[in-house]
Amino acid sequence: MIEEYPETSRKRIFVLLFLLILLGLVAIYFAINTTGPNTVVAEQGNIADPNQPLSEPNQTKAEPNQPQTEPNQPTIEPNQPPAREMEDPNDKKVLRPVHKHPAYTERTVERARMVDWQIEARTIKDPNVLSAMRTVPRHVFVRLTEQRSAYNDNPLPIGYEQTISQPYIVAFMTDVLKLTRNSKVLEIGTGSGYQAAVCAEIAQQVYTIEIVEELAKSAKERLKELGYRNVFTKASDGYFGWPEHAPFDAIIGTAAAGRIPEPLIEQLKPGGRMILPYGSPRGFQYLVLLTKDKDGNVRKRNVMPVRFVPMTGEVQKPRQ
Ligand code: SAH
Repeated sequence: MIEEYPETSRKRIFVLLFLLILLGLVAIYFAINTTGPNTVVAEQGNIADPNQPLSEPNQTKAEPNQPQTEPNQPTIEPNQPPAREMEDPNDKKVLRPVHKHPAYTERTVERARMVDWQIEARTIKDPNVLSAMRTVPRHVFVRLTEQRSAYNDNPLPIGYEQTISQPYIVAFMTDVLKLTRNSKVLEIGTGSGYQAAVCAEIAQQVYTIEIVEELAKSAKERLKELGYRNVFTKASDGYFGWPEHAPFDAIIGTAAAGRIPEPLIEQLKPGGRMILPYGSPRGFQYLVLLTKDKDGNVRKRNVMPVRFVPMTGEVQKPRQ
C-alpha cells in the first residue's frame, strides 16, 4: 500500500509529459504547413535565369507551369501575359525565347570552345552571333547516334538524306544577314531547326519552311520544347516563300539550287539581305549574298564556295 502511491504519481507525470510532447509536435506541424509552400513559391519567382542572353532589365519571368504559345500562332494569348514579353521601339509586342530547358546548361564548355576555336578564330566578331552560337544546344538538334560529335567542326546527318550544317557555316550565314532584334527572317530548309534557333536568338521572328514533312514536324516539336516562341514552322515547298508574312528583312536558304526562286526575291524587303547556296546541286556551289536597295534594285555576289544538299520541289522543274 505504501509503495503504490509514488508509483501512480510517476505514471501521471509520464502521461503529462507525453501529452506535452504531442502538443508540441502538433504545433510544429501546423506552423510548417501554413508558411512553407508560400515561401518556396515566392523564392522561385525571383530566381534569375543565367541562360538568357539579350534579356531586358526589369523583365517579368515565366511562371514555371505557364503553357507556351503554339509556334504556328504568332499572336499573344489574351489575358495571359507571356513570360518574356517586352516592348520594342516600334511599340510592338515581342516574344523572346524562353530557355527553361535543361539542355541549355548541358555541354556549355564544349559550346564555348566551339565558338572560340571554330567561329571567333575564323573572324566572326558580331557579339550577337557569338552569343547565339554559345546558347543554342546543338546536341539536341542531332540524332542520339550523332550527339557525341555535336560540337565538332563538321556537318552531321539528320536523317532523310539531309544534314545540319557545320557550325561555322551557320554562324557565317547568320553574320552576313546583319540581324537585329527587330528583324523578321525567312528560312528555307528547316532541317533540324538549328539554324532557325540561332537566328531566333537575335531576331524578332523567324519563319521557317521545310519540304520533308517528318523533319518539319520534329523540328517544330523540338523548337517548341526548347522555348523558341518566336519561330514559326511550315511543312511546304520553300520555293514560294511565305507571302502572308512578307516582306522579310532577311532570307536564308539552306539547300542549293541552280536558280534563285523569284518569289523569294520579291518577298525580300528593300534594304534587306538574302543568303543562299547557289549552283549545281552536285557540283560547284557558292554562297551568294543578294542585297535589295531602297529602290528595289538587287545586287548579287559570291561570298564563299560551299557544298549543300539540293533544294527539291518546284525549283527542279524545267522552266516553262
Ligand atoms: N538549316 C537546317 C539544315 C538544312 S539541310 C538545319 O539547321 O538543320 C537542307 C534542308 O532543306 C533539308 O532538310 C531539306 O529537306 C530542305 N529542303 C530542300 N528543298 C526544300 C524546299 N524546296 N523547301 C523547303 N525545304 C527544302
